[in-house]
Amino acid sequence: MTSLFDDELPVIRVALPVPLTRCFDYILPPNLQHEYLPLGARVRVPYRNKTMIGVVMARQVTPDIPIEKLKPLIELIDDASLLDDHQRALAQWLARYCHGPIGDVISLMLPTLLRQGAAAHIQEETYWQATQSGRVLAPDKMSRAPRQAELLRALQKHQQPVAATMLRSLGFTSAQMAALEDKGLAERYKQSRHLEPHDDGKPVLAEIPLQLNNEQAEAVNAVLDKLTQPEVFLLEGITGSGKTEVYLQIIEAALKQNRQVLVLVPEIGLAPQTVNRFKKRFAVPVMTLHSGLSEKERLDAWLLARDGRAGVLIGTRSASMTPFKDLGLIVVDEEHDASYKQGDGIRYSARDLAIVRGKMLGCPVVLGSATPSLETLHNAMEKRYHWLTLKQRAGAKVQLPDIYLHDIHNKKLTNGIDGRLLQVMRTHLEQGGQVLAFINRRGFAPALMCHDCGWVSDCTFCDARMTLHREPPRLHCHHCNTVSGIPLQCPKCFATELKPVGSGTERMEETLEQAFKDWPVFRVDRDTVSKKGMMEKLLEKVQKEEPCVLVGTQMLAKGHHFPAVSLVVVLDADGGFYSSDFRGLERMGQLLTQVAGRAGREQRKGKVVVQTHRPEDPLLKLLARHDYSEFSRCLLEERRETLLPPYSFMAIIRAEANQSDLVSSFLADVVQAAEPVITQIEGLEVIGPLPSPMERRFGRYHMQIWLLCSKRAPLHQGIACLLDLINRHPMQRKVRWSLDVDPQELI
Ligand code: ADP
Ligand code: ZN
Ligand code: ZN
Repeated sequence: MTSLFDDELPVIRVALPVPLTRCFDYILPPNLQHEYLPLGARVRVPYRNKTMIGVVMARQVTPDIPIEKLKPLIELIDDASLLDDHQRALAQWLARYCHGPIGDVISLMLPTLLRQGAAAHIQEETYWQATQSGRVLAPDKMSRAPRQAELLRALQKHQQPVAATMLRSLGFTSAQMAALEDKGLAERYKQSRHLEPHDDGKPVLAEIPLQLNNEQAEAVNAVLDKLTQPEVFLLEGITGSGKTEVYLQIIEAALKQNRQVLVLVPEIGLAPQTVNRFKKRFAVPVMTLHSGLSEKERLDAWLLARDGRAGVLIGTRSASMTPFKDLGLIVVDEEHDASYKQGDGIRYSARDLAIVRGKMLGCPVVLGSATPSLETLHNAMEKRYHWLTLKQRAGAKVQLPDIYLHDIHNKKLTNGIDGRLLQVMRTHLEQGGQVLAFINRRGFAPALMCHDCGWVSDCTFCDARMTLHREPPRLHCHHCNTVSGIPLQCPKCFATELKPVGSGTERMEETLEQAFKDWPVFRVDRDTVSKKGMMEKLLEKVQKEEPCVLVGTQMLAKGHHFPAVSLVVVLDADGGFYSSDFRGLERMGQLLTQVAGRAGREQRKGKVVVQTHRPEDPLLKLLARHDYSEFSRCLLEERRETLLPPYSFMAIIRAEANQSDLVSSFLADVVQAAEPVITQIEGLEVIGPLPSPMERRFGRYHMQIWLLCSKRAPLHQGIACLLDLINRHPMQRKVRWSLDVDPQELI
């Protein structure tokens, strides 16, 4: 550049939602000056042949190309910053961590409506009511304007003002409303839908907190001691030990300092029960943010958090990126939950992002779980996190359930359940208890098989079986979603005896219905719960505490309280032993412990029966003794020996193509070309290319490269080297690839 005043170049750098890791430079039109262009504001800019919305990341930049070639920006959308310094720094961090496009990260931070250009302030709502004269006029007199008469009648019926959106949903138009206004029969006024800033001196509490027991008090005090420091706490507490009460009292302290609080929960954890506990406790606004909200509601919650008007924001993974005016505490409940990890695009973990945010903002982060992840436990053991434990159940004097390992080795099962177990279930039902049967497979049966020739219902496109479903009847591949009719004859030998193999939730429901004619059987899995309101209806029935059987997948294990459940039956516990994923056992232990925690939460001691082929397995025995901590220590020992996470940091590069050779030679090329660099990076191990656990999925072949290293920096160096080679490889366009840092699944 030849300008004398480099620092005054009218050039801004903008993050755009395009799949490129860099930002784009634009020149300011003469009527716009830097001081009016806030960093983090949205702008509309030309990009190729279209216009796009981006976010200003830097001002007065020296462009990489001659300034004459830059295009001018079209429009400034926000008059104030939308993403403040912290938020942009967080985005930069995440883009570096994922080696991903900054524009994609910025997009992820913004609610859809903001990405589309909607105004970034809470819209006031218009309300209508009848005026004095409108109240007394008989609508029949307005025979020349029948719709206006109807509208007047509707307004007269209501004492309270009616929202314009409501009137529109009844079929009235704005013109009709305005006509009544012109006639002096109706009047409008605007009202902001909610909420004062939460720090306006109003009380924080709406109810009196519980008296903490000693363990809880210790945990609360430990966090309060460090309430303004970037410390991470692991709150390890068995189910029912009162972790939520601990969160509530720490949150109270943060709110009393006029700070805001972010509470992250797993996808399934936003049950109304949980949210209501928070809403009941606090007088400050408690908002939620999750995928079940409309775009408008999401935008409102986002804005209320950013403007400091929401005291507490409870949300799922995506809420971890919400901006706050003054965030003072982050709580991550069930920190081990897999739903915190985003599985595509920008693959981030909301838990890990929360920790990074805490560090950046200087505020504490509390990770809670009955079954902490091995990563978190390792960090606690290494004293990077403060480790707080709750060993006793709080509240009502409930004891932990007894857990029995029921040997089914060499036993003949009826549709996946041992006859003796049915007897035990019957006894509980007769005594008025509820029974929860847990099977982690939906559908009727995992496969259909020909009795004569051995044909099985393989998916044409995947290395997998198609699951047999009865409702509605179909074969369904759960991996590629291919659906086909159920054949009446074997497609190979035309025999008619096709048999379901194994059991899923539907078959278990049928089996249990036949076994227990006197009691209702409810099924809970993705197929039944996908209908809106189903779960609520079901919970209502179960809350009546009449005897019944609940059969379902892991949806049953999380987040819901079933106080009358006296027996939990785990039908397929052994899956973790055969998993191709090194986290298989960890997940199994977490699931078993969580399921067991559902039994006997109130008045009565519960019982858990686990069907297993390996009743003598030392790991299962530990879980049966409620010793998740020893269980996790054993698993950690294995990980240490094999140098897998958390004893190393890991990244996976996955690639897929429609031909097997294509992927394997692509990845092999890359690894080979990288070798001279990789061998120079200390401690970095590159493994592969290896076939993915399910190599063929939806007709495409999947392979991967693993990177392992005991330190983060060299790991990222290695990643950068491989990605660079990938991007320059001539076959790059024929292969779809992705990077996953700290993968939670291998598939
Ligand atoms: P967790 O979140 O660890 O599963 P909860 O916070 O749901 O446990 O607590 C379990 C039950 O114990 C709840 O009914 C709760 O109201 C009750 N509880 C928690 N702490 C106390 C306490 N200090 N005194 C009395 N009851 C408590
Ligand atoms: Zn056959
Ligand atoms: Zn398939």
